[in-house]
Amino acid sequence: MSANKASLQTTVSDAVELDVARIRQDFPILQQELNGHRLAYLDSAASAQRPAAVIDAISQYYEHDHANVHRGVHTLSHRATDAYEGAREKVREFINAESIREIVFTRGTTEAINLVANALGEQLQAGDEVILTQLEHHSNIVPWQMLAERRGIELKVIPINSAGELVLDGLDDLFSDRTRLLTVSHVSNALGTINPVGELVAAARKRGVLTLLDGAQAIPHTAIDVRQLDCDFYAFSGHKMCGPTGIGVLYAREAVLAELPPWQGGGDMILTVSFSGTTYNELPYRFEAGTPNIAGAVGLGAAVDYLSAIGMARIAAHEHQLLEYATDRITGISGLQLVGTATHKTSVLSFNVDDIHPHDLGTILDHQGVAIRTGHHCAMPVMEHFGIAGTARASLALYNDRDDIDQLIDAIHRAVEMFR
Ligand code: PMP
Repeated sequence: MSANKASLQTTVSDAVELDVARIRQDFPILQQELNGHRLAYLDSAASAQRPAAVIDAISQYYEHDHANVHRGVHTLSHRATDAYEGAREKVREFINAESIREIVFTRGTTEAINLVANALGEQLQAGDEVILTQLEHHSNIVPWQMLAERRGIELKVIPINSAGELVLDGLDDLFSDRTRLLTVSHVSNALGTINPVGELVAAARKRGVLTLLDGAQAIPHTAIDVRQLDCDFYAFSGHKMCGPTGIGVLYAREAVLAELPPWQGGGDMILTVSFSGTTYNELPYRFEAGTPNIAGAVGLGAAVDYLSAIGMARIAAHEHQLLEYATDRITGISGLQLVGTATHKTSVLSFNVDDIHPHDLGTILDHQGVAIRTGHHCAMPVMEHFGIAGTARASLALYNDRDDIDQLIDAIHRAVEMFR
């Protein structure tokens, strides 16, 4: 059994139930009515909401501690540096990385993947191969296509089946002696499929191939242990895990990161600069050119504290139960097709109802206070596989409860009646 499946099952059986009513109180945005209805926020896969603890940490930082980080001699610069570096340590602990040298702050998952594509890309030759999957978000496809155009690398794609699961039968044939990287989403944003990343990483490692996991949709839902996953890179975004937008993380195994050339040049990533040459800073600063998103990192640190205090095991168990409840209820709606029915799934329900266009459905639901996302979810190859233009997607987070699901189901019924 792969590492992620194992950890998910342990968490489900061991966890103590979550007090969701209490948790909802922590999120100011959830206290409002929307279009005259209670707000059922079911769009956390696009961006989660923030608890007051995160919002307060950011204002506290700006009100009391802000200055630029590193190299400053004055007190505020020391405080800002401590806050920024403190957040790095929190993230390290949260994902069980060995060292803070392995934690690079980025703008988000997208920038983290682009960092790898550009830095590692410098070391790839025409004819080298990257394996990815049909389930990927565009941000884990397009950077590799751009690299293919620039450097002549080849892309090989792991296909999916009708349930939206990766088909690994032909995996051996996808590897060759030119394979340099295997990259896969830990959890699919469009379908919620939990991919067998343990198995994939093991297959790659056996052949000396590097691995990059896109953890954008896994990090808010289950405990992540990069050492257990054994991947070389793990990318995620703050805003999917109750943190701010504009901040994310690239975890990179130190031995691998140390061999990569810098990506962006500028302040903070250097030790010395002269016109006869530049020496680069140590890890991870060599990959953080320019003034970073300090407040974003502080907010991310507060999000890590918040999620850790609740416990990722309890969050996973709660979301698992809620997904089962939601799946049961939604599949009872006649004319509704669930898109993505993987055995191992988390937190996402993608669906279509009769001939109702997903955008129409989303608009009708919005009028009833239900916020879902509609469209291709930046995963057009997935939509192509199912022969559809898009889906309506309800996605869950720790603050969702059965009332949200019941409101969703009632709103879908109402939409169906309107189109009848
Ligand atoms: N990968 C996956 C699986 C995602 O769901 C997302 C966000 N929808 C991304 C990457 C990109 O994340 P960001 O826009 O925060 O960089």
